[in-house]
Amino acid sequence: MFKLNRKNGVSYYTISSFEATGLVRHGFSTREGGVSEGDYGTMNFRFNCPDTKENVIENFKIMAETLGMDYRNIVLSKQVHEDVIHTVTDSDRGNGITRENEFTSVDALITDKKNIPIVTLFADCVPVFFLDKRQGVIALAHSGWRGTVKRIAMKTAEKMKADYASRPEDILTAIGPSIQVCHFEVSDDVAEIFISEFGENTAVKYGEKYNVNMQLAIEKQLRETGIPAENIDNSGICTYCNSDLLFSHRKTNGKRGNLGAFLELI
Ligand SMILES: [Zn+2]
Repeated sequence: MFKLNRKNGVSYYTISSFEATGLVRHGFSTREGGVSEGDYGTMNFRFNCPDTKENVIENFKIMAETLGMDYRNIVLSKQVHEDVIHTVTDSDRGNGITRENEFTSVDALITDKKNIPIVTLFADCVPVFFLDKRQGVIALAHSGWRGTVKRIAMKTAEKMKADYASRPEDILTAIGPSIQVCHFEVSDDVAEIFISEFGENTAVKYGEKYNVNMQLAIEKQLRETGIPAENIDNSGICTYCNSDLLFSHRKTNGKRGNLGAFLELI
């Protein structure tokens, strides 16, 4: 279950199943609690937009402090809707935060190192959280429709199995706030890809147009890797429906900040 927390003026979601392990610090941000203004207000993690870099860095500091993390150790992804999964090591600390982002294409991060917060960014695309509670491995994946079709969530779980001997039954997963089937209208060609890749129920006809259910397609991928249904927590929270609290690219025609998924092994 995704639970909304409020601490020091910052609102953020946590995942009950992850919390119960005691193995991680984590959170998924909302718009509340940062220093940015206007379309980016207030908790924006998006660089390279009309919001200032100083504001974004300050927001990272506030969020990290709220979650009990050291912002200087954050490792930020470099999301380009591909399926590259980067294995985070000590030398990555600060990437994209205290120094330039050295990555060129990283849509998923994975690590077994403690005290390194991994962070991925969202505004409608789907955040997927992973925690192998037996081997002590975490991962985050950014799965927009392209990443979903490339099966980045499945590939991330497969990498945990291959590189860390993770057993599917030990991997907890969670699908965070993102644009849901109620609002994710797509062109016919995209709908056809989902139907052929993931089955008819992942694209629903709303009048003339199709709406796609990315979260269901991701659930199916996770099940295919052997992760049991009870280990998959699908938040069901729509960014478009809740655009007062969450950034939505669709709802705002792109005038929006980024939400952040934060995850760290203790
Ligand atoms: Zn919606």
